[in-house]
Amino acid sequence: MATNGDNLPIMAKKTKPAYITRLRAGRGAKKTTRPSTAAKVAKAPVAVKAKLKEIPREFPGKLLDQDAARVVRRLSEAGHEAYLVGGCVRDLLFGLLPKDFDIATSATPQEIRRLFRNCRIIGRRFQLAHVFFRDKILEVATFRAPVAETNALHNGDGSDNNGDSGENGTLLIRDDNTFGTSEQDALRRDFTVNALFYDVEKQLILDWVGGVKDAEKRMLRTIGDPDIRMREDPIRMLRAVRLSSRLGCKVDRKTAKAIETHAAEVLDAAAPRIHEDLLRMFAGGAMAPAFDRMIETRLLEVILPELFDHLSLAVKAGDNDEVEALREALKVADRWTHAGRKLEPAVRFALLLAPALLTPLDDTSKRDAGSQVTALLKPIAQRIALSKRECERIRQILLALDKLAPRKKRRRFSVAALVKRAYFPDALDLFELMSEATGDFREDAARWRERFRELFPEGTAPEEAKPKRRPPRRRRGRRS
Ligand code: ATP
Ligand code: MG
Repeated sequence: MATNGDNLPIMAKKTKPAYITRLRAGRGAKKTTRPSTAAKVAKAPVAVKAKLKEIPREFPGKLLDQDAARVVRRLSEAGHEAYLVGGCVRDLLFGLLPKDFDIATSATPQEIRRLFRNCRIIGRRFQLAHVFFRDKILEVATFRAPVAETNALHNGDGSDNNGDSGENGTLLIRDDNTFGTSEQDALRRDFTVNALFYDVEKQLILDWVGGVKDAEKRMLRTIGDPDIRMREDPIRMLRAVRLSSRLGCKVDRKTAKAIETHAAEVLDAAAPRIHEDLLRMFAGGAMAPAFDRMIETRLLEVILPELFDHLSLAVKAGDNDEVEALREALKVADRWTHAGRKLEPAVRFALLLAPALLTPLDDTSKRDAGSQVTALLKPIAQRIALSKRECERIRQILLALDKLAPRKKRRRFSVAALVKRAYFPDALDLFELMSEATGDFREDAARWRERFRELFPEGTAPEEAKPKRRPPRRRRGRRS
């Protein structure tokens, strides 16, 4: 696939980008049907054949985290197997700087704790060791057994895992407690490029699943049958979109097909995990391509039907500006991320949801606008686990935009009071971002920034005073 200047994938030359075609088709154009229970059982996972390849690979020392390398060495010296694993090995292979380094080992959490003073065991369902350093925490996990061993299949017993639930339950992973070998640990991971172990001492990649070859082909592929892997844990569909967008790589044909087939099941994943993955799309600086891929794969229409319908209606009416404006804004968010400018979660969601939340307000009086945004946010909040506080902040930020943009006629308001509001920095971030995306209101954005700096040279507004709570009424002692 071709890449643009930012090394992100761009569409092959077509008359229309795929996401526009998808929007034109509208919601439910090709309904995904959930497989029947019989089909689910028939599709029980087949054991993936694994054959170990050891591939010599030298990564420049400055790309490796030296503390992580030391932890690995210490574990090896104590007689355990220990490797760098997962996202960091993948990122190194793709020529990216890993953001964190995870470690996998044959040592049990208790054995790890005995080796490191600065170590704490966390987790109940699956214990992990956290090794603490001044500036970071390294996660050291004992090799896990594959899903079939821990018995995720066909249990339908209502027990929970990661909070997942739903009628897809027969395949959802529900228990995760057994330690395993490095091979088993590799096989239970999601994508081949995520299942590589790096032996720091020998400078060898241990590859059970053909991940190195896939990384060289710039290809994201599930380990094993993609239909089963997506149904086991539907969040993997969002992970596929997020990772392929960030890595600028293709998604293997069968994996992509499985995502399309099972898109409707993404809501079987726990809402907080969907919330987290959407935020991670922004944090990885690849929200714009991820947005296109969410439209193409139908994930957007399942997770945020309000936004999908809004954009889709516009496109069907011959107006592509609405979706293009949002894409542009997401690209600015990505540029800011690459430049080290971070957006608060509420700003990220406000940006993504703005077209769906703000447009209906055109016919609404100012007074009703707040309650209308709150009402529109309610079903969205349930699907993606937005907290009450986040919803409130999103509402405040979006409604503040109207005050930040210049108007000829409007009710007077106190500029100083607005700048002092706790939500003002977030609202100004969004206003600046939108003005950079559209080219409108640049001077106004600069003026508001200046005002904010004058009042708060430190850069942060004071937290809004919370309404004072009445002290709880004292209970009288029970009379006997
Ligand atoms: P990022 O760079 O965004 O952190 P990552 O691949 O490191 O990406 P993590 O969520 O940190 O993502 O997960 C670490 C590793 O755990 C992954 O590389 C993968 O091997 C495994 N993993 C994470 N989520 C899943 C999942 N849902 N199913 C199977 N394996 C998973
Ligand atoms: Mg990671």
